[in-house]
Amino acid sequence: MEAKAHSKQSYTKPGQISWMEEDLAQCSRDFAPLAEERDAETGRDDVSRAKDERKIHVGVIGAGFAGLRCAEILLDHGVQVTVLEARNRLGGRVHQENLLGHAVDMGPNWIHGTLNNPILNLAKQTGTTLSTVEDHPCVFDQNGEVISHDKATELLDLVWEIITEAFKYSNEESSNISLERSLKDFFIDQIGKKGLSQQDQTLKYFWLEECLDGDNLYVASSHAKILYKIADKALKHADIHLRTKVINFENKSSLEGGDRKVRVTSTENQTWEFDDVVVTIPLGALKCGTPKFEPPLSPAITNAIKNTSYSRLEKVYITFPRAFWESPESESTTTTTTTKSTFQSFANFLHPIYSPSENPQSWTLEVNSLSSTITFGTHAQPTLLFGIYGPCATHITSAINTLSPSSPEYFHVIDDFFRPYYALLPNYDATNPHCRPRAVLATNWQNDELAGYGSYMNFKTPEPREDGGEEGLGEGSRLEDDIRALRVGMPERGIWFAGDHTAPFVALGTLTGAYWSGELVGMRILKGYGRALESVGGKEVVIGNGENGRGAGDG
Ligand SMILES: Cc1cc2nc3c(=O)[nH]c(=O)nc-3n(C[C@H](O)[C@H](O)[C@H](O)COP(=O)(O)OP(=O)(O)OC[C@H]3O[C@@H](n4cnc5c(N)ncnc54)[C@H](O)[C@@H]3O)c2cc1C
Repeated sequence: MEAKAHSKQSYTKPGQISWMEEDLAQCSRDFAPLAEERDAETGRDDVSRAKDERKIHVGVIGAGFAGLRCAEILLDHGVQVTVLEARNRLGGRVHQENLLGHAVDMGPNWIHGTLNNPILNLAKQTGTTLSTVEDHPCVFDQNGEVISHDKATELLDLVWEIITEAFKYSNEESSNISLERSLKDFFIDQIGKKGLSQQDQTLKYFWLEECLDGDNLYVASSHAKILYKIADKALKHADIHLRTKVINFENKSSLEGGDRKVRVTSTENQTWEFDDVVVTIPLGALKCGTPKFEPPLSPAITNAIKNTSYSRLEKVYITFPRAFWESPESESTTTTTTTKSTFQSFANFLHPIYSPSENPQSWTLEVNSLSSTITFGTHAQPTLLFGIYGPCATHITSAINTLSPSSPEYFHVIDDFFRPYYALLPNYDATNPHCRPRAVLATNWQNDELAGYGSYMNFKTPEPREDGGEEGLGEGSRLEDDIRALRVGMPERGIWFAGDHTAPFVALGTLTGAYWSGELVGMRILKGYGRALESVGGKEVVIGNGENGRGAGDG
């Protein structure tokens, strides 16, 4: 997700269109071919589609942003929608918890890219508070010594320079790059130094990490109001079943003849029959082989699910009686360079070797302070937000998995792990009660089946399997084709996929991508039944920017 802070402007020539932009435009154009494909299967033509006036009933499986946006689009066009959601709440990975009176996001905190981003527009419509976080990182070296501001800036510039080069190289040379070549290899080649990046993302597909242009904004007041807004239509007009976990999809006509229907079964053995289903179950869960599909999914989709990968990001909030790291100057508008060079809002702890018992692998950590009233206004809180990835995140979530968040053990596991790092922040004094946390809260997506045992889709280098082979792409397969296969789904069987793993490339693995994916599938279904043509006013369909909570193509 960090790479998503960068934009393509820095590596494409003026006027040049990147693969990402090409793909985004394509997503807006590809309704007609899909409808034709479906007609070929069903024997229907444009005229009969236009006359298909019966009530269509679509089952939307999962009520995250992809499912809710899809439901909204379908309901707007008169389709009957039933939403089946396994949790007892809406929102999926968008979820808030209460941390000493503050609503904090357990999933996304950032809007990545401000240009034509529907989530940004929804934030504006709902009066959600957004913050621009100052980008003056304080970097601690492996011994816990602060790297000087000038040196840190120089290193950061170097990192971004190499990332820009990596984007360019991946974008232009993807077909010649082996899957095993990671971004880390590229870094090592470029600078001959370790410690600046620990990502095992495959360089071949690094171009897919390009993001929407514009800034990254922190959602200070949480995503709660955005969620209410996007859920509004479904809450009013859809038939929503919470605590309903789907375990089986069966194409009825294949067994009993007659109309093509999809029969959906839940753990409680309840069944529904739909004309079409939109499966927004996270990629990580699909990779585990649940739910089942009868007959099995096509080889293209099965391979796509196998080939794509899922990341492990977790967040840890630690709240103090007051923000001890702040000096009075850091809250003033005339912040001194000295304060900036110590700690303002971000800090990185590179390969720490000063906490061998808690962090023997020297996992790199990063922290974000949420305390500045200048940045966060009334949502400022004396809280540090740590971001942890991969094995480090697995280590923490395994340690807390069986503990109650209100138990002293939970508190101690987290406090003991993170103390060596917050103790490096300005004004820390172990004997000062202001420097002792009042509350801690960690996410645990890795142990959450309904979140796919992780956080979002990403592009990892293939992992070795026990039999000596590799988990990942087969010979000659291309990740972009896999993602396209998921986007297309199996219209002939009435089975569609949406979610952050089926998004336009520019927004893969993000909330914006999930929202767009739901919108696109909704429009494809409407198109397939000849319903969208009238309402979108012609073929110039563009995917929505969230204005008025509706897609631009909704007329
Ligand atoms: C820690 C973390 C940080 C993130 N940071 C950012 C960020 O800063 N910016 C950003 O843009 N994105 C971020 N993301 C990614 C973003 O949250 C996701 O891309 C997005 O929320 C995915 O939405 P979705 O609808 O595809 O999936 P989900 O929100 O996961 O929705 C899927 C729904 O399906 C339900 N479900 C699962 N299995 C079943 C079943 N068998 N039957 C019925 N229902 C089922 C689930 O309960 C869930 O409600 C982050 C994610 C995480 C976890």
